[in-house]
Amino acid sequence: MTLKASPLSFPFSSTPAIGIPSPIRKGIDWCRHQLPFALDHINTWLIEDSGSIVIVDTGIADDISQAGWEKILGGEQRSSEISKIVITHAHPDHIGNASWLHHRTKASVWMTQSEFLTAQAVFEKSPSHSTTSIGALFRQHGLPANDCGSVAEKGDHYEKLVGSLPPSFIKISEGDRLNIGNNSWQTILGSGHSPEHLSLYCEEENILISGDMLLPKISTNVAVWPHSPDGNPLKEFLISIDSFNHLPADVLVLPSHGLPFVGAHQRVKELQIHHEERLNQILSVCHEPKSAFQILPTLFERELDAYQLFFAMGESIAHLNYLCWEGEVQKQESATDQGVVNFIKQ
Ligand SMILES: [Zn+2]
Repeated sequence: MTLKASPLSFPFSSTPAIGIPSPIRKGIDWCRHQLPFALDHINTWLIEDSGSIVIVDTGIADDISQAGWEKILGGEQRSSEISKIVITHAHPDHIGNASWLHHRTKASVWMTQSEFLTAQAVFEKSPSHSTTSIGALFRQHGLPANDCGSVAEKGDHYEKLVGSLPPSFIKISEGDRLNIGNNSWQTILGSGHSPEHLSLYCEEENILISGDMLLPKISTNVAVWPHSPDGNPLKEFLISIDSFNHLPADVLVLPSHGLPFVGAHQRVKELQIHHEERLNQILSVCHEPKSAFQILPTLFERELDAYQLFFAMGESIAHLNYLCWEGEVQKQESATDQGVVNFIKQ
């Protein structure tokens, strides 16, 4: 969802051409890769590591993105070895080329354990991560039965976008420090968008690689999925982004989507306000029992296509679960639609 204009500052006004890294600082380069969605690009990062290069995130596994990587890695200045492939999280635009790059460069893949295992679960369509279970969750939350299969399938492109997964990984944990070149990058783990998302902060450069946890223009997707139907990812997300308030206010944020920006604290505040407003809007209509499907028009003014509905349903459930855990609403079974869960203000 697009938010209002903000007082963030954007020190880099032009974006890198596909396949051509653009310098952020000496030894830190910005690359772009196309995505075939409304979100049409992802940023990835190259960090010099004493004669080799660390890659952070990889794009989806398609011919265009891989041709971009060939150009990046085959370029004159990029003939160095790749020492690490670091993945912020399991979503396909981030992990998509990890296996391909691993086999091409022999570099190890570094990521958190939950993200590695989640990628396996989604890729292998385990029962708790399958299209069937997503359809059943959405049905339980009021999506008309006829739409459940098609909406669940719209979000089911993981295998196609990833191709294959890396066979193994090196585990990254909270508070680890990755020594890259002369700098130390501190790991900051977060959840709510994905189970154990990795961000990286370098004090010497005052740079945060935020992944999807802090984006300048769009609010990060925060959704409930069937492996944890009563989970509270919105609370986890709000707690997680608060950790960025402990970084310097003038930290340069390198996000996965959009332009690098300065104004992390301001952006955290905007997102807190954004979700608070949404929660209040939901409460204002829950004086009568409402399902997650029924509150979609309250949360999303625009018409939603099947692909957007996939993420919107998960977001809607996330906001209702948050209110439920806070004791603001309670669940009850629909009187008219058997098996459907409604939420009503306490
Ligand atoms: Zn993501």
